[in-house]
Amino acid sequence: MPEKVVIIGSGPAGWSAAIYAARANLNPLVFEGTVNPDGVHMIPLGQLAYTTEVENYPGFPVGDVFSFVRSAVDSSREWNFPDAPEGHTKNDKPHYAVQGTELMELMRQQALNFDTRAIEDDIVDIDISSKPYKVIRRNGETVETHAIIIATGARANYLGLDSEEEYKNKGVSACAVCDGGLPFFGGKELAVVGGGDSAVEEASYLANLKNCPQVHMIVRRDEMRASPILRDRAINNPKIEIHWNSVVDEVLGDGKEVTGLRLKSTVDDSTSELSVGGMFVAIGHTPNTAFLNGKIDVNDKGYINWTKSFRTDTSVEGIFAAGDVADDYYRQAITSAGTGCMAALDVERWLTDKGVA
Ligand SMILES: Cc1cc2nc3c(=O)[nH]c(=O)nc-3n(C[C@H](O)[C@H](O)[C@H](O)COP(=O)(O)OP(=O)(O)OC[C@H]3O[C@@H](n4cnc5c(N)ncnc54)[C@H](O)[C@@H]3O)c2cc1C
Repeated sequence: MPEKVVIIGSGPAGWSAAIYAARANLNPLVFEGTVNPDGVHMIPLGQLAYTTEVENYPGFPVGDVFSFVRSAVDSSREWNFPDAPEGHTKNDKPHYAVQGTELMELMRQQALNFDTRAIEDDIVDIDISSKPYKVIRRNGETVETHAIIIATGARANYLGLDSEEEYKNKGVSACAVCDGGLPFFGGKELAVVGGGDSAVEEASYLANLKNCPQVHMIVRRDEMRASPILRDRAINNPKIEIHWNSVVDEVLGDGKEVTGLRLKSTVDDSTSELSVGGMFVAIGHTPNTAFLNGKIDVNDKGYINWTKSFRTDTSVEGIFAAGDVADDYYRQAITSAGTGCMAALDVERWLTDKGVA
């Protein structure tokens, strides 16, 4: 018997879709992905698994989240949780924001509590030449399904420096809107790397934060790729200083946190040091759509095109997309969860129309 719906991807979009699909009796099968099979930086539980505090997901104010999470999630998954925050033990009442992995484990658990099945494997191809469709697993097995929700997300591009890797979550981030307001960055001068629209958006966001004294934009050339209106916004903002013709040569730190950047001139290779407490890399994202092998329409940046206004339909009927894989604009956990819900409702209605559900 073919599956009613296969969900590919295990971030906020995938699990939200699973929760809704399971509660609609669709018995969804989720492929969670695997760890770095191609050397590409992807892991199950989505991008939030790369971060620490998540302060902007509604329903999770700072509080005794620690105990709640451990009471809600199956104890076999505790290996995935961070230790109690410094100064706290598991037995007292810690006061801290939900951690990325905790939030994702809660979503996963919520989906499994209904009727979701999860398999830790990648989907490496889809066959849409006939119905039911087929999804092909990395292990070579094929699963037949009437409908598919693609929720494979996107991954932030990084510079590729060892020192950048060392200071991730200690001052290096790829999302100013997500992390810029964290207490960790409060009162510190911050750097944004990149010269495109999203780099300016990120720099402007940080500059607007009351407790951010100064933002430094590191721009490779003597001009920006950003649209003129955004470029002028950055240039005219007194809290943004632009370092033209510069690249980051090294992230500097004391082992615990970022203390500065070594910049290299793209004109004469000379180096200089910039004292900052954080670096936000804004050099684009790569949507995880390569495995589709061109069978679903994508835009010029590789993101899946939604083909109907305010619906999650793709160019192929019965295949829906949710989350960052189809959204190169908002890219937040809450928006991904929202479109995950939409995709499940769209699948349910489509299957009903086809007489399957
Ligand atoms: C460092 C960092 C901090 C962030 N902080 C915040 C924050 O505080 N608040 C906020 O709202 N947002 C934050 N974001 C953004 C947020 O994480 C994303 O917007 C959100 O996770 C997107 O959800 P998604 O479900 O669309 O995809 P993703 O979270 O990207 O998940 C997709 C999943 O699908 C899997 N997958 C990919 N390809 C396949 C395949 N072929 N087969 C099977 N599985 C596959 C991937 O391994 C991954 O686990 C942050 C992002 C980063 C990088």
